[in-house]
Amino acid sequence: MPKLAEPAETHDPLSIFSERESQVRSYCRSWPVAFDTAVGSRMTDIDGKSYLDFFAGAGALNYGHNNPALKAPLLDYLARDGVVHGLDMHTAAKAEFLRTFTDVVLAPRGLDYKVQFPGPTGTNAVESALKLARKVTGKEAMINFTNAFHGMTLGSLSVTGNSMKRGGAGIPLVHATPMPYDNYFDGTVPDFLWFERVLEDAGSSLNEPAAVIVETVQGEGGINPARAEWLRGLADLCNRHKILLIVDDVQMGCGRTGPFFSFEIAGIQPDIVCISKSISGYGLPMALTLIKPELDVWGPGEHNGTFRGNNPAFVTATAALREYWSDDRLERSTLAKGETVDATLRGLVETLPALELAAKGRGLARGLSFGDHTLADKTAAAAFERGLLLETAGPESEVAKIMPALTITDGELDEGLEIFADAVRSVAR
Ligand code: PMP
Repeated sequence: MPKLAEPAETHDPLSIFSERESQVRSYCRSWPVAFDTAVGSRMTDIDGKSYLDFFAGAGALNYGHNNPALKAPLLDYLARDGVVHGLDMHTAAKAEFLRTFTDVVLAPRGLDYKVQFPGPTGTNAVESALKLARKVTGKEAMINFTNAFHGMTLGSLSVTGNSMKRGGAGIPLVHATPMPYDNYFDGTVPDFLWFERVLEDAGSSLNEPAAVIVETVQGEGGINPARAEWLRGLADLCNRHKILLIVDDVQMGCGRTGPFFSFEIAGIQPDIVCISKSISGYGLPMALTLIKPELDVWGPGEHNGTFRGNNPAFVTATAALREYWSDDRLERSTLAKGETVDATLRGLVETLPALELAAKGRGLARGLSFGDHTLADKTAAAAFERGLLLETAGPESEVAKIMPALTITDGELDEGLEIFADAVRSVAR
């Protein structure tokens, strides 16, 4: 038997990660500390240093870390030995969630969707949406948009824009045709000019699409918001050409842009909606595929998975819906806080013209793009040194992304924005 290596003589608490964890790790490279506890909008590392969080679990923590209104029912549920793992068995916790989701989210918005639990993560919701659209229509082709992000499994990657992520597939990614997202040509080309033309031209070589998949605000793609009229135009085009419309609300849903569903501002009703990230509210894995009832043609077990019944996530999801979506207070405060962030970003755009900055976003999904693409990462690094966590987005990481918890206090928001502005000014020097 080969002798096991002696444990390295080191007191560096981070060395275990570089020694044992795969090279694939990424966020931790920007934040080279070990975090230990987190409450609301603050995370604390093992040395007791506190960081303000403008990252919010990449949109999975819209209600902050360890929110007490969610933690109490979760602890009660665990203490009374509530079912934790349940595949797709009927459970009391799932029934409560489905009832609450119907009463608090769907009914008040006049929406009627069947709920599929496709697996624990966002990409599971996207995969099931693509599969179902193909099954319903008998067509295989998909339309996606430039700079889209839909997840890391093969189907989701095939409709994702980023060439580095696509490269990781190792096989050809096929059956998807990209179309220009809103404002791709800086407003110089009429909306859907190319899309309509290739759909209507029998000589265009476009395969008839089963569905279009779209984000209302592209998160990973650089905080690019589509206008409400563009979204309405897309829904109308899909309707006229009998193409299903899938809205991927994994990152922008659950109130990130203000309303519960990000597409509400356009007054559209997508055929299929993908939800994940903040639906459990507590950072616990959970995803939903919402399906118009007439499209629910799945056979039993045709799409399944071991972790579709994360019952603690159902408990916290139910608590989050009751706490935050029984009235419009959260939506209004998100829109107001979004305006505060926007005002700061616009101030920076005005006072630092040499940086060629642009303020982007909607609600509390905000971003600042830099003319010199390297400066966004430098800003994130400068912010980290000052105790603020934020990530970058966009095809060349050219956008500093501001995504605090929706529940952040006004004081914390102001504090974080001051640090952010200071970080931007520091890279300008
Ligand atoms: N869709 C969108 C719009 C996303 O932002 C993400 C994650 N960033 C995904 C899908 C994939 O979700 P997950 O990482 O949970 O698989």
